[in-house]
Amino acid sequence: MFPAAEAYDIDIAVDESAVDALLAVEPADIDPPTELTFARNVFVPLTTACRYTCSYCTYYDVPGEATLMSPEAIRDVVQTGVAAGCTEALFTFGDKPDDRYTAIHDQLDEWGYDSIIDYLYAACEIALDEGLLPHSNPGDITQSEFRRLREVNSSMGVMLETTADVDAHSGGRRKTPGQRLNTIRAAGREGVPFTTGLLVGIGETWRDRAESLLAIRELHERFDHVQEVIVQNVVPNERSDFEQPSVETMRRAVAMARAALPEEISVQVPPNLSPTGALIDCGVDDLGGVSPITDDYINPDYAWPALDELQSIADDAGLPLYERLPVYDRYLPADCRRRPVAAADEPAAHGSWLSPAVRSAITASTDAARRYRAVAARERQPVSQS
Ligand code: SF4
Repeated sequence: MFPAAEAYDIDIAVDESAVDALLAVEPADIDPPTELTFARNVFVPLTTACRYTCSYCTYYDVPGEATLMSPEAIRDVVQTGVAAGCTEALFTFGDKPDDRYTAIHDQLDEWGYDSIIDYLYAACEIALDEGLLPHSNPGDITQSEFRRLREVNSSMGVMLETTADVDAHSGGRRKTPGQRLNTIRAAGREGVPFTTGLLVGIGETWRDRAESLLAIRELHERFDHVQEVIVQNVVPNERSDFEQPSVETMRRAVAMARAALPEEISVQVPPNLSPTGALIDCGVDDLGGVSPITDDYINPDYAWPALDELQSIADDAGLPLYERLPVYDRYLPADCRRRPVAAADEPAAHGSWLSPAVRSAITASTDAARRYRAVAARERQPVSQS
C-alpha cells in the first residue's frame, strides 16, 4: 500500500473502511478543544546541509554553502533561550547532512565528531547543561541512533508528511514514505516521546491524507509514543510553486486528524504558517513550539507570532492558553505530572520514557528544573518572560 514500504519492512496496513469513514468527516463533526497549549523554545539549526532536495524546502543549502553551528554558537543561542525563560532547545538539521557534504563531514572531524549524530548528542548535552530540554528533529535515523539520542532528548520528531509517493520529494536522493514510517516505528520501539505530522498540499490526495493519519495511529497504538501530530500547510516560497491550501482544505484536514487520532494525541497547527484562528474549532489544541527570540529557520519568510499574539488567538477562541514542556505530561516522572495516570493507562515503554539524564534535569534542585516543573504544573503565566 505504501510506496517503497517494502524496502523497510513496514508492516502497516490501514483498513479501507476506516479510510472511507475519515473521508466523510466534516469540521462540524468535531468537538472544539477546551484549551490551547504551546512550548516556549529556541530554534537551533545545527546545519543547513541535507542529503535530500524536497522541492518545497527553503531550509537546505547546497554543498559549499551549507553552514554548521559551532559549539560556542550553540551555547550562545541556548543561553539566550534560558534568559528568555524558554524550556526547549529545538534542534533541526537536514537528513544525513554529513552524507554528501564533505565540508560538513571534515568540519565535524576536525572538531572531533564521527558524525552529525555524535555532534547532535554533544549539542543536546550543552542544552541540558545550560538549562533547556532538547527536542531534536534529526530526519530519518535508525533504531540504534534513537537509542543513543534518547539519552539526551526529552522528545524527538520527524514529519511523516504523507504516505504517498509525491513528486515534491524530488531528486536523485529522495525521502520515501516507507523510510519515514520506519523512522516513526524505530522511535516507538525505543520509547521516544514523538512528534510527527502531515504536510498538506504537496500533491497528495484526500485518501492519502486519511491513510497517513491512520498509519500514524497504528504506530501509536503499538508503542504509545506519539504525543502530537502537526497538520501543516505548505507555503509558497522561492523554491516552491505549490499553492497554499485553502482554509476549507485545512479545516477538513484538521478535523480528519482529530477524528483519526486518540484523544491523548494533540493536534497542532503552526501559527506562523496556518490560518490558525479559523482552524481551532476543527480540533486544534496545540500551537507547537513558539520562539520568543529566534527565527523559524525552516520557513524564514514566516515570522513567529509574539507570545501575546498567541494569547489573542486563544482569547478570540474563548480558550485558556497554557505553556507546556517539549515532552508531554503523561511521559513525565509520576511526581512531576499535572494529572495522575492510572496504572492501566500508563504509556508502556522501557520502564521509563525519560532517560536518567533528562529525568534528572527535570527533578533536580536547579533553577532550570524548577522552571520545568513550574511549566509542567501550569504555574507560570504564558506570556510572562520567566
Ligand atoms: S524538507 Fe527536510 S528532508 Fe526535505 S530537503 Fe528540506 S531539510 Fe531536507
